[in-house]
Amino acid sequence: MEDVLVVGTGPAGAAAAYLSAKSGLRTSIVDKKVLPREKICGGLITAHCGAEIRDIFGRDIPREAHVEPPVLTERVIPPSGRANGFHNPLNRIENVDRGRFDHWLTSLAVEEGASLHCPKELVAMRRTDNGWIAQLRSRGGVEELGARYVIGADGVYSSCRRELLGGRNQKTISVIQEHYEGRGPFGDSFYLFFKGDISPIYAYVVPKGSCTVLGLGVHRSLGPPADLAMSRFRGWIHQTFGYEARGHTHREGWSIPFGDVAYGKGRVLLVGDAGGFCEPFTGEGIYFGIQSSRAAIAAILAHGDGGRYVAEVYKDIAAPIGRKVRQITDYVSTLTDEERERRIRAKRIKVMEESGVTETA
Ligand SMILES: Cc1cc2nc3c(=O)[nH]c(=O)nc-3n(C[C@H](O)[C@H](O)[C@H](O)COP(=O)(O)OP(=O)(O)OC[C@H]3O[C@@H](n4cnc5c(N)ncnc54)[C@H](O)[C@@H]3O)c2cc1C
Repeated sequence: MEDVLVVGTGPAGAAAAYLSAKSGLRTSIVDKKVLPREKICGGLITAHCGAEIRDIFGRDIPREAHVEPPVLTERVIPPSGRANGFHNPLNRIENVDRGRFDHWLTSLAVEEGASLHCPKELVAMRRTDNGWIAQLRSRGGVEELGARYVIGADGVYSSCRRELLGGRNQKTISVIQEHYEGRGPFGDSFYLFFKGDISPIYAYVVPKGSCTVLGLGVHRSLGPPADLAMSRFRGWIHQTFGYEARGHTHREGWSIPFGDVAYGKGRVLLVGDAGGFCEPFTGEGIYFGIQSSRAAIAAILAHGDGGRYVAEVYKDIAAPIGRKVRQITDYVSTLTDEERERRIRAKRIKVMEESGVTETA
């Protein structure tokens, strides 16, 4: 019997397994995919997320996990256009390949003593007197693994969450990305765009290796459909930068949580996207995922053997993260372009004061 079974090797799962193993708990981590696996994502690690990673794992993200350009700075464009936006050189954003980045984090957990099992998919769970038995399916059939605590880090369509809370998926918003050959005029910057007739949340451009990635959030009742949104976005970028999106290689999409935070129950703790810990104003989920895992392991360690109520301890510790995500979701759902403009102009003043840089986006 394991002390902790972590389901999922994304950043949240890897951080949970690392911290658990480092604390001396017998830890297993499973993933349904062969590693390194791909994850649809912008692959941007903000400055505060990079600091959290260094704090937990005690090292910098290695060169092999980065893609060109390895470091980007943030530029934000409000509905009224580039002249009213800002450049934030203090947000030093690392540009990573999610397959290699997640695999690196998982390898650190293994180095600390966690046992890695993959490809093994969690297909069912049942409660016992002192923990849970997970049923894991692989090519060889279904096997069982028992653990005192289960950490559900299995992403936005979490099986752990469904098993625990019954059937329903959480509320989500879709993020679509289009990849174009060549790097365009975006230099070493990550551009975030806010305009309601394009996206109810955000649109962005990321220079990625030899490509340019255009992304935006889509919600069936809050904004235009994906094709219309993308064509408006390409039009806005063309007008602003003279950039013609040519050499389309592929389009991809996946969901991010939309404020439906759940901490878990009893000895099962939900972290990362599985728990709904992703911030929908900028789509940042890696930071909140890692933070929630830190809280989950702190709760397990604080609770000792009276583990039945560990989810409540976790909820207490992680409540500020959950509250922040919910608050952001509430205002994002109702934002008008006037409010987007007002918020970004206020942030612009703050960024200019802090950085001393008066350059616009
Ligand atoms: C298009 C897009 C762009 C984004 N860009 C950014 C960005 O630039 N920066 C940022 O911070 N966030 C970004 N996000 C959000 C970010 O990708 C997620 O918040 C983050 O990956 C969540 O990490 P996680 O560890 O919770 O889950 P995931 O990274 O989704 O990992 C879950 C893991 O669980 C495994 N799994 C699933 N089900 C099972 C099962 N039943 N059994 C075993 N294993 C299972 C999966 O194979 C996967 O490896 C973006 C999201 C999207 C969709």
